[in-house]
Amino acid sequence: MTDVTTSTPPGAVLRDRAAPAPPPPPGTRRPTVVIVGAGFGGLRAARALRKAPVDVVLVDRHNYHLFQPLLYQVATAGLEPEQIARPVRAILRRQSNTEFRMTEVTGLDSSGKRIVTADGSISYDYLILAVGGETNYFGLASVPRHGFGLKDIPEAIRIRNHVLHAFERAMLEADPERRRAELTFVVVGGGPTGVEMAGALSELIRLVLVKDYPRLNVKDVRVLLLEATDRLLAAMPARLRDAAAETLWRKHVEVRFGATVADYDGARVLLKSGEVIPACTLIWAAGAKAVSLTGRLGLPTAQQGRVPVDPTLQVPGHPGIYVIGDASYLEVAGAPLPMMAPVALQMAETAAENIQRRIAGEPPLAFRYRDPGSLATIGRNAAVAYIRGIGFTGFPAWVVWLVVHIIQLIGFRNKLFVLLNWAWDYFFYERAARLITELGIRD
Ligand SMILES: Cc1cc2nc3c(=O)[nH]c(=O)nc-3n(C[C@H](O)[C@H](O)[C@H](O)COP(=O)(O)OP(=O)(O)OC[C@H]3O[C@@H](n4cnc5c(N)ncnc54)[C@H](O)[C@@H]3O)c2cc1C
Repeated sequence: MTDVTTSTPPGAVLRDRAAPAPPPPPGTRRPTVVIVGAGFGGLRAARALRKAPVDVVLVDRHNYHLFQPLLYQVATAGLEPEQIARPVRAILRRQSNTEFRMTEVTGLDSSGKRIVTADGSISYDYLILAVGGETNYFGLASVPRHGFGLKDIPEAIRIRNHVLHAFERAMLEADPERRRAELTFVVVGGGPTGVEMAGALSELIRLVLVKDYPRLNVKDVRVLLLEATDRLLAAMPARLRDAAAETLWRKHVEVRFGATVADYDGARVLLKSGEVIPACTLIWAAGAKAVSLTGRLGLPTAQQGRVPVDPTLQVPGHPGIYVIGDASYLEVAGAPLPMMAPVALQMAETAAENIQRRIAGEPPLAFRYRDPGSLATIGRNAAVAYIRGIGFTGFPAWVVWLVVHIIQLIGFRNKLFVLLNWAWDYFFYERAARLITELGIRD
């Protein structure tokens, strides 16, 4: 196993940087901060360290940063993947103290201060783990086998291909029951992702696909949103939760509460109540947990495989190792912080600040979360927003949702293309990306 950092000095392998970092004075070495994960948390941490007296090595198994909140629009043919993702090297091109390595992290040697990757090990003085989360199927093995998760670009493309292919199959299906099953789409989980996915799917079908398939009877199409509890969007006040459910019904989504999935075989959804729903598509948006890597690092883990951190965001007993974002577990006022982008972004700022404070011999800061509020859109002209204790719905909330997402997208090109796409779809009732590019095993 090679030690990539010591055999290759930070920066030496980079060819695309604008200006090389100034060399440290003879006999001294700048501390190396290794950041694992170029998602919301990792990328923000790297940027927060751009002027710090450190060398940063950012590691990710992908060469791009992904804006996950818009993945459902890729899955419903509204956006192309490259409109919601950007190469990490392009983002950090001008950051002279940072280099990027595309490799999979597989382990941690905390006593040797090295992370282990598929391509050798990388030494660090400080480590920020921002490895994010993955879909939580709660042990239901049949769901990932026959259904779809929504966590990365390949999964979103698989959903898009499958949904569009379901319409093609329905066109060829002579048996009315099997045709109805082909045209029944079940979304599981009434959180923001499930609500947004169900709303967008219903609009794709009712506003666009009906024009492509004029011979199909739209009454055969069903979109169901199954939620195990008695509420959607649990973090929102009751008035907004009710408004979200009403809007979904208005957009032809059947919202079912107390509906817990027990099994799925690719053709029938079995509920815990015993009810069977014939459906050839099941999209699982019902849970998240930390990536399984967290269980292989020799660090403690808590609920959902998340790594407990102290208020300075370090792992107790492991000074210099910070865990941020979805992979971290920190309770505030008796409840764990949610697995959401603002938590990861704010933790990144604190972790970067605390590393600089340690280097300067100053005491660390305790992390304080400032909740920016929550938003969920339910198709055109409809959203619910809860910001600074004020709740609003409908068109104003939808405009806020649009503005917030455009601002947060990384890169001017992405912002421009997404905006143009949305405007086109809004005025012409279109979804340009409705191509079946690949057929899966079941298709
Ligand atoms: C479909 C969907 C919709 C969402 N919508 C919203 C929303 O509307 N609002 C909101 O606030 N939040 C939303 N979230 C949650 C939000 O995206 C996450 O909370 C946020 O991405 C967490 O940031 P992070 O930096 O912890 O992890 P991530 O952004 O997930 O980044 C983790 C990075 O680590 C890399 N990585 C993982 N394992 C390894 C490894 N072994 N080796 C190398 N690299 C590795 C990954 O490739 C990834 O780039 C949504 C999530 C999903 C999936």
